[in-house]
Amino acid sequence: MSPLLKTPQELVSEMIMGWPSVRVPISMQDIVDFAQHFGENLSPDFDTSVFALLLPSREDYKLSEPLISEGDTITKFLVTLGADVWLAVVVKIDGYWRIQAFTFRCPRCFGQGYYYSGSELCPECGGTGWGATGDLEFRPGKRGRIQALAGTQEVVKD
Ligand SMILES: [Zn+2]
Repeated sequence: MSPLLKTPQELVSEMIMGWPSVRVPISMQDIVDFAQHFGENLSPDFDTSVFALLLPSREDYKLSEPLISEGDTITKFLVTLGADVWLAVVVKIDGYWRIQAFTFRCPRCFGQGYYYSGSELCPECGGTGWGATGDLEFRPGKRGRIQALAGTQEVVKD
């Protein structure tokens, strides 16, 4: 099967199995190498700096049933890794699935998105319940961070 015709499940599994940061010390070179060689499976606005995060319990990850929405062009999974839950967002671009985001459940609101009584948005995740503020907002300025660190490519500007 062509590497371009992978299912969303295959893409996410492959990313987890190849994840560069599974023990400390973390190697920036491993992160850069993985971001480059796995890059064809990622959407242009994927934030590759996430590869620097430790992924615990990679050996027994579990994917949820996919949630497919918006005319079959977006699929989301929950990925259970030990006691942690991550969110994978996979989008179809020109007929091919690409991972657009992979981020952890917010440790402050545990995915709720709000804070205290529910009258305040969680400042950690910006109210999305996942990752850090901005992770699911796909700001173009986040592109190219790892490439910039590697000094190999131009940085995409805002
Ligand atoms: Zn939060």
